[in-house]
Amino acid sequence: MKKPHIVILGAGYGGMMTAAKLQKKLHINEAEITIVNKNDYHYQTTWLHENAAGTLHHDRTKIRIKDVINSSKVNIVLDEVLCIKPEEKVVKLANAELNYDVLVIGLGFEAATFGIPGLDDHAFTIANINNARLIREHLDYNFACYHNEIDKKAARLNIVIGGGGFTGIEFAGELANRIPHLCEEYDIEKTQVRILVVEGARTVLPGFDERLVEYAMNSLESRGVEFINNAILKECKKDSIVYEKYGKHHEIPTMTTIWAAGVRANSVVEESGFETNRGKVEVRCDMRTPDYDDVFVIGDCSMIINKETGRPFPPTAQIAIQQAETVACNVKEKIRGGELKPFIPNLQGTIASLGNDDAIAEVFGHKVFGWKAAVMKKMSDNRYLLKLGGLGLLLKKGKFNFFY
Ligand SMILES: Cc1cc2nc3c(=O)[nH]c(=O)nc-3n(C[C@H](O)[C@H](O)[C@H](O)COP(=O)(O)OP(=O)(O)OC[C@H]3O[C@@H](n4cnc5c(N)ncnc54)[C@H](O)[C@@H]3O)c2cc1C
Repeated sequence: MKKPHIVILGAGYGGMMTAAKLQKKLHINEAEITIVNKNDYHYQTTWLHENAAGTLHHDRTKIRIKDVINSSKVNIVLDEVLCIKPEEKVVKLANAELNYDVLVIGLGFEAATFGIPGLDDHAFTIANINNARLIREHLDYNFACYHNEIDKKAARLNIVIGGGGFTGIEFAGELANRIPHLCEEYDIEKTQVRILVVEGARTVLPGFDERLVEYAMNSLESRGVEFINNAILKECKKDSIVYEKYGKHHEIPTMTTIWAAGVRANSVVEESGFETNRGKVEVRCDMRTPDYDDVFVIGDCSMIINKETGRPFPPTAQIAIQQAETVACNVKEKIRGGELKPFIPNLQGTIASLGNDDAIAEVFGHKVFGWKAAVMKKMSDNRYLLKLGGLGLLLKKGKFNFFY
């Protein structure tokens, strides 16, 4: 008898954890498992701001899929998913077509620019390894150009971050730590460099405790970061940005705008005709789509409403990993004819990094800041590595620079 074919799309937090769990849960004779990903590596999206700022080399963030997934148990297909045809149970890839019996969609997020003029053409986003590498190179290039031009351009040394949410602030923290090194390398006075965070709301880091937000802003300001709150980014040009504050337009010369204020689910999901809510699939409690019993959706492509607040749970790696654990159990049950269980999130808290040795955290009801929060962040990163690939992966890729 033909074995059922389980296809997992995306080797991100959700996809990798699903595959890692399924290769242990199912016997090789029970099902054929395939994971499809654009690259031969998984990357830790939550470290990308460090790669972009240049404080951590991107090779540290990449994990070869084969180092975690046993290719004798799981087929690893390196290809791009173009669309899914759920009625036919087919996935169209750039170079092939796959039939499935059970599908797990974990294709993550992409940047959303909300039609703001110029952002698609002139701004950078921190969405994957290649974007992050480009930002690091671009920063180096502009610093290198500065002294080689007779007409010195402030735009080369002004760095604008659009959005003071999680990603924007974490990037600002890393950048603030990297600038002194860049200045030393390229003989530039530190006072000539500006890092500006343009935020539409009254304050940055919405959702965090106000005292922690104040701590974060003070910490970043002491390292040269400027905040422009209540300001809406109106246009991004090749060498400037325009924002509106209290009805007035202002222009800042810059050749480096990092757009960190919007993400959406991978557009493949919506374009494949799944019923979506703001681009995401509002999944059933067992993580299946409302209309297909054989399709599970996890991570940033899925949406679950928090019954306590009536709002969706925020898209995080923490949730994607927990969902993957439930989905791996449910896929196994589906293959064996058992009962599927509901996904119950176990939110442990939030930690926002402000650089290597500083962070703010709200964990298990406690508010923590400074080096203690930074240590917690690294422990949480290390915990993921241990869970995904055991001690070997932790020792290879873990963060052990706790006190410097
Ligand atoms: C800078 C930054 C910092 C963050 N910090 C935190 C944090 O501290 N804590 C936290 O919990 N969350 C954080 N997040 C959010 C978190 O990273 C995401 O919620 C998480 O990555 C979602 O996981 P996922 O499995 O849905 O997708 P991802 O981890 O994004 O993986 C998607 C995978 O699919 C692949 N893929 C995409 N499209 C295709 C295609 N068409 N064909 C084939 N493969 C494809 C990608 O290459 C990737 O491997 C951060 C995000 C960013 C950008």
